[in-house]
Amino acid sequence: MEGLISLLPILLPVAVVCCLIYYLVESLYSRWSLWRELPTLEEYREKNPDCQTTRGVRCFECKSGAIWQHRLNHRGKAMFECRHCGTYLYKRP
Ligand SMILES: [Zn+2]
Repeated sequence: MEGLISLLPILLPVAVVCCLIYYLVESLYSRWSLWRELPTLEEYREKNPDCQTTRGVRCFECKSGAIWQHRLNHRGKAMFECRHCGTYLYKRP
């Protein structure tokens, strides 16, 4: 037990770093797996023809036209989320 306590100054930072790495990998992985599952804009329009308006695309859930863009990298890969209800709608590959 005493040996374990003397290791605490080493074990604690290692545990914190492991938790941080886990959190980063987990959040990156969940973003990418969500991105993979989203339809492209063309597929979204095909699936939800009523969501195509003269002013652009709207959300299939709440019909809001306010859409956020989440950029995933500098090459333009992005996900689009409804600003009103938070549903992810489509992606730009
Ligand atoms: Zn919505």
